Amino acid sequence: MRTCSSSSIIECAGERRFGVAPKPVAPYARHRRESVKPKSGQAAAGVEHTMSIRKLGLGLFAVLALAGCQGRPSSTKSVDDAAITRADKDGVNWLSYGRTHDEQRFSPLDKVNDTNVGRLGLAWYADLDTNRGQEATPIEVDGKLYVTTAWSMVKAFDAKTGALLWSYDPQVPREVLIKTCCDAVNRGVAVWHDKVYVATLDGRLVALDAATGKVAWWKTTVDPSSKYVITGAPRIIKGKVIIGSAGAEYIARGFISAYDADTGKQIWRFYTVPGDPSKGFENKAMEAAAKTWKGEWWKLGGGATVWDAISYDSDLDLIFFGTGNAGPWNKSVRSPGGGDNLYASSIVAIRPDTGEYVWHFQETPGDRWDFDATQQIVVATLPIDGRPTKVLLHAPKNGFFYVLDAKTGRFLSGKPFTPIVTWATGLDPVTGRPNVNPAANYDETGKPFISVPGAVGAHSWQPMSFSPKTGLVYIPANEAGFPYAAAPKGWQPKPEGFNTAMDGGLTAMPADPKARAAALAASTGSLIAWDPVKQKAAWRVMHVGPSNGGTLATAGNLVFQGTAAGDFNAYAADSGKQLWTIPVQTGVIAAPMTYSIDGEQYVAVLAGWGGVWDIATGVLADKSGSTRNISRLLVYKIGGVAKLPAPPPLKAMPLDPPPVTAPPAVAAAGGELFGRYCAVCHGDAAVAGGLNPDLRHSGMINTADNFKKVVLGGVFKGQGMVSFANDISPADAESIRAYIIKRANEDKALEMAAAK
Ligand code: CA
Repeated sequence: MRTCSSSSIIECAGERRFGVAPKPVAPYARHRRESVKPKSGQAAAGVEHTMSIRKLGLGLFAVLALAGCQGRPSSTKSVDDAAITRADKDGVNWLSYGRTHDEQRFSPLDKVNDTNVGRLGLAWYADLDTNRGQEATPIEVDGKLYVTTAWSMVKAFDAKTGALLWSYDPQVPREVLIKTCCDAVNRGVAVWHDKVYVATLDGRLVALDAATGKVAWWKTTVDPSSKYVITGAPRIIKGKVIIGSAGAEYIARGFISAYDADTGKQIWRFYTVPGDPSKGFENKAMEAAAKTWKGEWWKLGGGATVWDAISYDSDLDLIFFGTGNAGPWNKSVRSPGGGDNLYASSIVAIRPDTGEYVWHFQETPGDRWDFDATQQIVVATLPIDGRPTKVLLHAPKNGFFYVLDAKTGRFLSGKPFTPIVTWATGLDPVTGRPNVNPAANYDETGKPFISVPGAVGAHSWQPMSFSPKTGLVYIPANEAGFPYAAAPKGWQPKPEGFNTAMDGGLTAMPADPKARAAALAASTGSLIAWDPVKQKAAWRVMHVGPSNGGTLATAGNLVFQGTAAGDFNAYAADSGKQLWTIPVQTGVIAAPMTYSIDGEQYVAVLAGWGGVWDIATGVLADKSGSTRNISRLLVYKIGGVAKLPAPPPLKAMPLDPPPVTAPPAVAAAGGELFGRYCAVCHGDAAVAGGLNPDLRHSGMINTADNFKKVVLGGVFKGQGMVSFANDISPADAESIRAYIIKRANEDKALEMAAAK
């Protein structure tokens, strides 16, 4: 059940503290999975496909798996394209989600540097009024800091003192959470002239007066009867607000749109996959794409939603954006008979004035692994074959680092950036097309396949950064697999379902403790400094688990990153040596940013554990470290002396479920249903990560009547848990309850055995 309660759920068993700072590790010197070592220079293919999911014991590793040079602008009125372009050399402000249109997240500020970062301390902090995952990068203009929080709320602060200037709550109905895979998150605002723009979870684009926070105009960007949501930050390009949406797991057709920044009038919309051919195509790009689909794909939407990356190059006058996975994941259901399914899992270049298609590069043709290509796209100039070349740098979910010619989309090079890639053996050196491991096509073979990377991706939305000084890209990477298994024949989409056409029972973590230990050991995270010219790691720092924070690179030879384990760190950009660390009491997934006021440099980051890794990965969710959310904006400077209040204690609650009474077959059927409807919010195998209710502990499982009141009656709709009566029958609800009771009793037995 996708209850995503906004009430605090801090009753998590056992706080983990990781006081030992991760040591820099030579590139790929040590990884812990001896049995699945890659061949040199190549991804390891076919290593795991011969083993069953159960035998390897790998469960649901992860579900789904953004002034001029002369000084400060006098007000937000001076934020325009020229200002953002010049911002390249001006570190005083941070004017756009990725700081500049090229989204390098590199600041030329160097007052804080590798010689004095050890004296960095808290300048001020602000507690936020939500306790869900915080993913936003703040924007700073003229001494004002604008930030979004979970539930698409916006706050403006005095960037020097932390005084709250105004706040805005779009009052997103909490039941919208039913349409989301990955928490009520938002990644930030855009600022242009005298307005601040936010895209809300329920699909509205809202322009606010930058001085007061009052609504100037708003538009609905999605059909309210659809399942689209928005989590991404808008970008302003040539006076247009550019925004996409999410929803590829919920029967959606992807698109990206432009709205006039002054009036909110829609200027253009570019769809990413073709619609029903009988209704005609919107443009030639859709007509061409339709040749790569089979069956009646439009009935299931097609996916390829534009939920994060949008970059721009003013010389080429091209917008670059990434598209998500094709939907549903299961290709045999989506496009029976084959095809590449354009423009899913692709980078697409379009014209900002018209939305006209220019070129595309598809990273994962015929995707069936939720391999979104939506991760941040960096525009940079690199020496390629001895010539300065404008390139796009991309580290998508699929595990390969791509360098593309920005003008043409031509593939220049690509190598795996994490040690293990099992779904493909490498990329064609000329075309960049992956050589897919045949066993990875689980929907065709009929056999489950464990892919590394999995649906959480080798890199997801957590922004990477690029330092022109070191020439390195700093990637927050994940190493975690996922067991893919096709849904039984005859699968049909459901209105409230997580419509991936996967087998929810087969993809769940088994109860066996050894299997869990193996899955935990195999899931980790790292900070990788990647040389995009040599296509190899320069250095690498291991983290405790996956889903760590985005990165910031600065001219002070520094890289900043927060971790899921609850620390905020600075590393030497050239060597990876850790130079500073500070505990922040909660997991950090957002990316830091930096700005300067009165000659003093500040570094800001949003803290607040959550997102998909917390809510959906079950027993793996607390592997990374933090199992609680304390949502705060943290701002540091040299010599800062502010202190955080002591964190509230975590309570350990023993399991106390009712006894198992249902026959095993009923609980097994309930397990499949749980995987399909519930696990995406309440955790794989009914183990919740800390943000959403852990149903093993819920009193609602004690009686069939109470359980049905929640699942079918929707009594907790105000907290996001809507009624599933359209999808789930009373008998099915009882099967799900039986499964949760079985799982709770299995884990209670483990607790009692461990206590002996
Ligand atoms: Ca996806």
